[in-house]
Formats: sequence, structure tokens, C-alpha cells
Amino acid sequence: MLIGLTGTPGTGKTSVSRLLEKRRGWKVIYLNDLIKEEHLYTEIDEERNAVVADIELIRSRLTGIINEMEKESTNGIVILESHLAHHITDIAIVLRAYPPELKKRLEMRGYSEEKIKENAEAEAIDLILAEAFEWCDRVYEVNTTGRTAEETAGDVERIIDHLLSGKEEELQ
Ligand code: ADP
Ligand code: MN
Repeated sequence: MLIGLTGTPGTGKTSVSRLLEKRRGWKVIYLNDLIKEEHLYTEIDEERNAVVADIELIRSRLTGIINEMEKESTNGIVILESHLAHHITDIAIVLRAYPPELKKRLEMRGYSEEKIKENAEAEAIDLILAEAFEWCDRVYEVNTTGRTAEETAGDVERIIDHLLSGKEEELQ
């Protein structure tokens, strides 16, 4: 089962994914690393210091990787970790953070003022959540505000356990 873990940068996708790998043995694809390593982008946006992801190329590259990982992962769970995950997956878990808290997290990370503003604004208008509702069959929202990464990982675990129990019922 492929599950997208998405959200604005700074909402905690990477921290939570590392915890889920450790605690549950679920496999995680860190999509942003894969995009850079395998040049899965159409162009480089010099001004924004970012790449423009090639979603079709990503999709075709992921097919084989996901099949292999599902075999290795506990319960066949594969998590696609990226702010782009909901472009690809049918199931999306969207991490959220109150914009002032998100700003603090991105300041700690040394992001430029412009990047901080851009991301805080995207979070304030629910951009990724709206996209996920448009593109995915099932969308789950997790609020990380005032919570620790460990607590948030627990919230995500409960959602995935719920999805797994649904799958078992289907098979019976
Ligand atoms: P992303 O991958 O979404 O950009 P990261 O996991 O890299 O986010 O960074 C999130 C930062 O916020 C980390 O420093 C993490 O410790 C911190 N953080 C604070 N609260 C939470 C929470 N509830 N869940 C996840 N991360 C949190
Ligand atoms: Mn990350």
C-alpha cells in the first residue's frame, strides 16, 4: 500500500518518516532526494533555487521501486515522503502547522525570508490540503502545532493502522 506523506516544508514530513521507519519498519521513499539524484526534473528554477519536478518521469521511475519496497516493508506499507507526494498517491496524509509556528521552524533551518514567507502563505491558504482533496481519493489531515515529532508520528501511525485494518476486512 502506497501512502503519501505531504505538507508544506517544515511541517515535519522527514522527522516523522524517520520515526516511522525506526518504530514500525515501514519503508520510506524520500522523493526529493530521488528527484535530485536521478534528475527527475524538467528544469532548474535558478531564481527560486529549486527544481521543477517532472511528475510523469517520477511516476514511471517509482513503479518498480514501489513494488520492490512493498515486498521488504512491514505490512507492505510504502510511504512516499515529499511536498509533491499527493501528485502521485491515491492516499494522502497532510501534515499541517499553524503558520507562525511554521515560520519559527523554517527560521531555525536557516531558510531565506522570502522562502519563509512563501511557505507560511501556502500553509495559511491550505494550498497542499486543497490540492490533495482535488487529486487523491482519501485525505487525512494531521495538525502538528504544539505537538512533538514523536506525538505526530503516533498520530500518523494510528491513521496507517486504520488503513491496514480496512484492508484486512476487504480480504475477509
Ligand atoms: P519537512 O520534511 O516537512 O520539511 P522536517 O521534518 O525536516 O520537515 O522539519 C520539521 C522541523 O520541525 C524539525 O526540526 C522537527 O523537529 C520540528 N518539529 C516540531 N514539532 C514537530 C511535529 N509535531 N512534528 C514534526 N516535526 C516537528
Ligand atoms: Mn523534508
